[in-house]
Amino acid sequence: MRPPIPTQTREAVVIRDMHCCARCYEGWRLEIHHRKGRGGKDPHRLSNLITLCAPCHQWVTEHPADAYERGLSIRRGTTDMPDEVPYLDGYGKRFALTDDGQRIPLI
Ligand SMILES: [Zn+2]
Repeated sequence: MRPPIPTQTREAVVIRDMHCCARCYEGWRLEIHHRKGRGGKDPHRLSNLITLCAPCHQWVTEHPADAYERGLSIRRGTTDMPDEVPYLDGYGKRFALTDDGQRIPLI
């Protein structure tokens, strides 16, 4: 059984992401996506977690190459850490996620 995301962590992620999907900004059927999967060290670190709506979560799962390119997912087996890989939203804006719970827009 995979350990669940602690409730407090889930809340911190959804609040950071302003209660909407990080890709399309819908505010319904929100789920938490592990950018670099659940394995490895500290999978529930805030930079590894991102809020996605159910359709975008499914899209990320079904289009891994696109998801890697946009930083929504990060390849396992690489040394890339989630706080070092920015992600692109559905409009092409770039953001960095930090382990202390910030979401920083990048120019
Ligand atoms: Zn979405």
